[in-house]
Order: sequence, then structure tokens, then C-alpha cells
Amino acid sequence: MAKITVDDVTKRFGEGDESVVAVDDVSLDIRDGEFVVFVGPSGSGKSTLMRIVAGLETQSEGDVKIGDTVVNQLGPRARDIAMVFQNYALYPNMTVEENMSFGLKMSTELSDDEIEETVTSAAEMMDIGELLDDRPGQLSGGQQQRVALGRAIVRDPNVFLMDEPLSNLDAKLRAEMRTEINRLQSELDVTTLYVTHDQTEAMTMGDRLVVLNYGELQQIGTPLECFYRPANQFVAGFLGSPS
Ligand code: ADP
Ligand code: MG
Repeated sequence: MAKITVDDVTKRFGEGDESVVAVDDVSLDIRDGEFVVFVGPSGSGKSTLMRIVAGLETQSEGDVKIGDTVVNQLGPRARDIAMVFQNYALYPNMTVEENMSFGLKMSTELSDDEIEETVTSAAEMMDIGELLDDRPGQLSGGQQQRVALGRAIVRDPNVFLMDEPLSNLDAKLRAEMRTEINRLQSELDVTTLYVTHDQTEAMTMGDRLVVLNYGELQQIGTPLECFYRPANQFVAGFLGSPS
């Protein structure tokens, strides 16, 4: 069960006159197994909202639920969420295999054989089976991104969070990885929140879009609904809807 509920969540940074409302009273329901894309301009609160769902940031007000559990008090590990960011944060002195197994060795009861099996099958899924003995520095950007995804899936998480994971890649690789991420998500059937400011990613990748501006929810709907029936001028302008 990995539906996610965001209930009246607000996040303020700073105090008084200096304070910034990064997320402004947002409520959302994300279905089990759904792929939801958070989209909006820079500074619209996408990353903050995602970090709140992940447990990396504490909201000022409101609740986050995963399944039926209020997770406000739980840290990232306990939420059973795997994250992938644009800077892949691979450990440079570890091999690909060590990068992928490290988290498992720290956090599970699995035997070494079981860990090896899990890593091998995740590596096959990401088509990086040949790279297990290499170090990140020897890999291309696209290969590193595959390793980062492989490392996320070995933990068999309830939820994937991805924050602009493709923004360091060139256009051709980005297109390839969009397909790859969609394939992975549907194979694993894992609830996924994906942050981007890229309209192509927004229009092509998700089941639904969450459109944000100045921390406020503008619209939630399928890409086609948002495109053809934008809730307001902002959504229309941002997605380039026909007028
Ligand atoms: P996005 O990911 O859509 O670009 P962010 O969630 O990063 O937007 O930021 C939303 C707003 O919150 C911005 O105005 C940003 O400057 C502010 N903000 C984000 N993180 C912090 C922080 N740690 N301290 C102060 N302000 C922050
Ligand atoms: Mg961001």
C-alpha cells in the first residue's frame, strides 16, 4: 500500500518579514502505483514538497500519509522511499556493485548471497550488468544515472522520488532515460513522484501532473486535461496550451 496523501501542507522558511512560503496549503491524493509529475517554474516549491514527502524536510503545517499511516514523525528510511537526484551522489571510490549493495548491507538482514542476487537482477534490469566492477569515474553520465536508478531499485521501495534526475544529461540521453524510467516504473509498479521543470517530461511521462506556482497548487490532472483544459492562465501559459 503506497498511496500518498498530502493534507493542507504548508512550509515556511525563515521568520517574520524574511519568511518565504515555499509550499502554500497544498493537498493531494496520489494513488498506489501512480506516476505523478510535479511541474512548475524554478522556485515554485517542487523540491520542497518532494523533500517533505521524503521526510528530508519538516512541514510547518499539515500531514503527510503513506498508506494509512501519518508519517510526519518518521525519517526517510522508515518511510521506505528511494530517491534519485540530478547529481547522482554515487560513491567515487566504490565499484558499481559496491555502490548498489552498500545501502542493503547497512539496512537489511539479507545474506551476502541474497544481496548479490538482488544487485545482479537490478543491474540486469538497468542494463549495467557489464559495469559492476567499474568505478563511477569510468562511466558516462547516462551510465551513472542507470547506476543511481539501479541503486534505488535494489531496496524494493514503496515509493520512488525523483528530483530532476535527467537535467544533467544531453537531449538524446534524456529522451532515452525518459523511456527507461517509465519502463522501470511500470515493471515495478511503484508509486513515483517525479519533479521537473521540463514541459516535454511533464507532458509525456506521468499519469497525472501536479502544477505548482509560488508554492500553490494550480492544477492536478492528466497531462491532456491540464493541456486542453487548463485551470487558469498560469497553467495554460506554462504548458503552452492552445488558446
Ligand atoms: P523548485 O524546486 O520548484 O525550484 P524549491 O522548493 O527549491 O523550488 O523552492 C521554493 C522556495 O523556497 C524558493 O523561494 C526557495 O528559495 C525557497 N527555499 C527552498 N529551500 C530553502 C531553504 N532551505 N531555506 C530557505 N528558503 C528555501
Ligand atoms: Mg527544485
